[in-house]
Amino acid sequence: MAAVAGRTGEGGALVRRELIVEGVVQGVGFRPFVYRLAQDHRLAGWVCNDERGVVIAVEGAPEAVAAFEQDLQAKPPSLAVVARVRGRDLPPTGEQGFRIVASQRGEERVATVPADAATCAACRADILDPANRRYRYPFTNCTHCGPRFTIIKDIPYDRPMTTMATFTMCPDCAREYHDPADRRFHAQPNACPACGPSVRLVDAAGRDLCAPDAWLEAAAARLRAGQILAVKGIGAFHLACDATDEVAVARLRRVKHRRHRPFALMARDLETARLVAHVSPEEEQALTSPAAPIVLLQRRSAPGLPVAPSVAPGVDTLGVMLPYTPLHILLLQQAPPLLVMTSGNPSGLPVQFREEEALSDLAGLADAFLVHNRPIHVPCDDSVVQVVDGELRFLRRSRGYVPREVAVPAPPLVPNGGRAAPAVLGAGGDLKNTFCLLQGRRAVLSQHLGDLETEEGQANYRRALDHLRRLTGIRPTVVACDMHPGYRSAALARSLGAETVVPVQHHHAHMSACMAENGLEGEAIGLVLDGTGYGPDGAVWGFEVLAGGYEDFRRIAHLAYSPLPGSEAAVRRPLRAAAGMVWAHLGSEAVGRLADLHPERAGEIENTRRLLDAGINCPPAGTAGRLFDAVAALLGICLEPTYEGQAAIELGAVADRAPDGAYPFRLEGREIQPGPLLDAVLADAARRVPVEAVAGRFLATVVAMLVEAACRAREETGLSVVCLSGGTFNSPWLLHHAAGRLEERGFRVLRHRLVPPGDGGLALGQAVSAQRRWRGCV
Ligand SMILES: [Zn+2]
Ligand SMILES: [Zn+2]
Ligand SMILES: [Zn+2]
Repeated sequence: MAAVAGRTGEGGALVRRELIVEGVVQGVGFRPFVYRLAQDHRLAGWVCNDERGVVIAVEGAPEAVAAFEQDLQAKPPSLAVVARVRGRDLPPTGEQGFRIVASQRGEERVATVPADAATCAACRADILDPANRRYRYPFTNCTHCGPRFTIIKDIPYDRPMTTMATFTMCPDCAREYHDPADRRFHAQPNACPACGPSVRLVDAAGRDLCAPDAWLEAAAARLRAGQILAVKGIGAFHLACDATDEVAVARLRRVKHRRHRPFALMARDLETARLVAHVSPEEEQALTSPAAPIVLLQRRSAPGLPVAPSVAPGVDTLGVMLPYTPLHILLLQQAPPLLVMTSGNPSGLPVQFREEEALSDLAGLADAFLVHNRPIHVPCDDSVVQVVDGELRFLRRSRGYVPREVAVPAPPLVPNGGRAAPAVLGAGGDLKNTFCLLQGRRAVLSQHLGDLETEEGQANYRRALDHLRRLTGIRPTVVACDMHPGYRSAALARSLGAETVVPVQHHHAHMSACMAENGLEGEAIGLVLDGTGYGPDGAVWGFEVLAGGYEDFRRIAHLAYSPLPGSEAAVRRPLRAAAGMVWAHLGSEAVGRLADLHPERAGEIENTRRLLDAGINCPPAGTAGRLFDAVAALLGICLEPTYEGQAAIELGAVADRAPDGAYPFRLEGREIQPGPLLDAVLADAARRVPVEAVAGRFLATVVAMLVEAACRAREETGLSVVCLSGGTFNSPWLLHHAAGRLEERGFRVLRHRLVPPGDGGLALGQAVSAQRRWRGCV
């Protein structure tokens, strides 16, 4: 045998091993890493991608092969996540040299596609260096950064499977691509000004507004002049304008029909972000991470840049992100240093990602369009996070995180015949929808898909589902959906032709999601504060104290029902919800106290009372969302909420940090009676007690309700693990104080860390509950 010098010891035997590496290992520079590692250890063999991940064959001295295997797991590339390495011995073949071979197509699909990653420091340096051939080139990327999820059509992840397939690499790019020592070795979206996509600044008719190489100066000048620009990014179009220009921001609000909901900002750099907001070390880490999410930051009371009042009216936070593509980096260098960057979708419709549609749909919204010819295969909104108690929490989990897997506890083998649990689709909710594909321990949540009311929203859902099924290879045969008979997500899921449909109660799904992402086995107490969810008794649920496991639950306590006048319309008219609660808990006469507080709305309140007395269109409801809406409306904080959870967030924003005790309430039987609380809030509001004090005492009361109900649940069940879930827990005030009080009382408190507590995390719980309930014979 002709052994290569050094490959074997003197007369030593050769060994050959096959290694299959699973996890996030494609599109992250894993093969070049393996190549270099094999060179270092002087091993022969090859490496390639296939549907399982990365497959390696190595041959050499036993010690060298062992050392190679160790290094493989110990020092992978920065964006890689090695989930598992499976190895087996093969007979040596005497192979010479080490090669990277073309991808193979196999049967099994467990490879994980990486999320889109923000531009790395090295690529940033390239585009800002006048001597570099990629100076000012807005599509610069390497194996450590760039678009992935949004440009990959299928796996294995290779250039022909991406939206870069139509661009042929120039000799310089091809050399980098084929050089294992280069940072761009097998970087599939690799490109340069000579061969890659390009940017244009155009009007709504698609006509150029400047010379090809003048787009940057021209776009920046328009932003400085107060114009609104539609900017095509990595997963969507943004609408951008100068965040310090009140006229521009107010105009953007008008054209977008968005009255109150805060706009996200993009700051030139960390220093600029610090001028307008406080940035803790954990927040800095999130801002500068490859995911580059929007981070909710505490506003500075005396900002170093005058943020326009219309950016985020009524809240003490600002949603800030840093430039995460070369295009953004370049634009923010020349444009004003703080831009509004809000997703470019007409109100209620999914985010725009196709050029032709964006030009026509955003025509009335933007003054000019910064577009490019690298197609976005699937749209993906920005993620939104906040740091509460030193930990990252998701409000929206999307770009930069999707399709990263969430590991859930392994399902037990199904008793009849020991069959493995089937693959499940969690269909999600109708608002803030995400869906979830689950197989075994692998849960993959989709990007934020928003509302499913419109046909566009539903088409977007189907497209995203088809895409994610391809990328993950998960083919669900069981669909989990909400119990609500009118849910569009449930109807969509049923229309997919699954063998089995498993309905999961809304708040049980929230609780399951919290248990699953925390790896909990067995049972827990669930404290779920939420907007509205369908209860099996036909009432609107949403202030739930549950106990149980993934499969089933018991209702330990809930907020006492009150009629919800006008049903869903009460969501937009919180004084009506307030009237319903006051009517039910304090009597019809007491509704007049509301009119005393809001004389300008006396007519509406009186009409509502008549509806209540007559019992017309007043379904019973007990939800935290409506309770928070009602109290915020009583206090005049938020009379016309325009987004879910707005009341809870705004109450928390004004509330005293250390409130002066709780208001009274009663826990009677299974019902939490809010009568005394409402009475006290009405009295304090009438006496003009400062809203900060009332809001603080109200929130403290909700915490006291939760603690008392959790203690009751512990007595009844012996359980002491508590899950906090539901959209109301987006309020940092509530999350912090509820968790703190419960821990003081000896509970182990589980919070959401990997998925949002609101409906963006719902699908995970639906999927896990259905997986556990499935018996193969439904
Ligand atoms: Zn890079
Ligand atoms: Zn090139
Ligand atoms: Zn919910």
